[in-house]
Amino acid sequence: MKQGIHPQYYKAKVVCTTCGNEFETGSTKPEIRVDTCSNCHPFYTGKQKHVVAAGRVDKFNKKYGINNTNEQ
Ligand SMILES: [Zn+2]
Repeated sequence: MKQGIHPQYYKAKVVCTTCGNEFETGSTKPEIRVDTCSNCHPFYTGKQKHVVAAGRVDKFNKKYGINNTNEQ
């Protein structure tokens, strides 16, 4: 391999912020945080569940006092 052009390759710990599931993978970052994973995603679990954590849009709407139920 050519020296100095390859990023550091880590055995990365992936943490799911929704269900707390952890697993390992390879990455150029030592730690990765994800919003959903195969343990809690409805596609895999077969159940529909509302994620409690507010998303960026909700945060934006709250910040500028925009009502979500407002008709456009
Ligand atoms: Zn998860």
